[in-house]
Amino acid sequence: MPWYEKGLKFKCTECGKCCGGAPGYVWLTNSDIQRLSEHLNISEDELIKKYCRQVGNRISLKERAVNYNCIFLVDSRCSVYEGRPTQCRTYPFWGKNVASKRAWEETSLECEGINSPQADLIPLSVIRKKLQEEE
Ligand code: SF4
Ligand code: SF4
Repeated sequence: MPWYEKGLKFKCTECGKCCGGAPGYVWLTNSDIQRLSEHLNISEDELIKKYCRQVGNRISLKERAVNYNCIFLVDSRCSVYEGRPTQCRTYPFWGKNVASKRAWEETSLECEGINSPQADLIPLSVIRKKLQEEE
C-alpha cells in the first residue's frame, strides 16, 4: 500500500497559483483539445491557433509573456474551469508530488489547498484514478 493509503487532505481554493507566475507547460491531449474546444464552443483548429503553442511534437497552452500566467487565467481564476485540461484536473495528485510524504509536504508549500483547514479527505481510490489520468 502507498504511504497515502488513508487518503490525502486537499480542496482547491481556486487561488490560481498553479496556473502561472513562472514559465511552464500545460500539455494538451487530443481529448483535452476536444473537451476545451467544446467548452469554448469553437473549433479545435481555432482553439489551437488562438490559445495553444506547438512545443516539439506536443501542444501546450499559451502563457502571457508579461508574467507567464496561463492564457486562461483571468483575475486569478481559471476562466475555463469546467473544460480545463487533464493536467490541471489531476493537480496536485501527480506522481512526483505523491512520490513520498516529503514530496507532498513540499507541494503543499506551492498549493494552499493541501492540508488546509477546509480540505476534504481525498480517498485512495480517487487519488489512484487521478494518477492514472495524469500518466
Ligand atoms: S495552487 Fe492548489 S489551491 Fe491554488 S488553484 Fe492550484 S490546485 Fe487550487
Ligand atoms: S487551464 Fe485553467 S486550471 Fe489550467 S493552468 Fe490554465 S488557468 Fe490554470
